[in-house]
Amino acid sequence: MGDVSSHLSTIKFKRYKHLIYGGDVTRWVDRKFPACPLCRKPSLWEWGNQNSRIYFRCPNCMGIISVSGWIVRGWTSPLPYAMSRKVAKIESVGNNSGLQNLVGQEYPIEDVQEWASKENGKQSDQKTTK
Ligand SMILES: [Zn+2]
Repeated sequence: MGDVSSHLSTIKFKRYKHLIYGGDVTRWVDRKFPACPLCRKPSLWEWGNQNSRIYFRCPNCMGIISVSGWIVRGWTSPLPYAMSRKVAKIESVGNNSGLQNLVGQEYPIEDVQEWASKENGKQSDQKTTK
């Protein structure tokens, strides 16, 4: 049994590069997460939309992280601030089975960014082999 819940399976992940549509989101994630916070490898993210959230999938580990579309697009949110908190939700850890405890959790984007570079972040309970 995989850990990808059904709402994720309907998202069509793609690495959009179009100048008008999608290129801005791809540039955002490439800049924020040059390396995947889950597998820590350089990632060429693929993504898709659902219900005003954007889901980013790492093609290396198949982990999925989502953020509010308002944050990525830089639009002024008509929603209460609480709904556009700058957090990333761990939707799936893909094949990083040691990180299963992170699924469904939300963390500040800045914290998640650090996971890719730090040895002892939130995911320190995973043994790393060098
Ligand atoms: Zn990854």
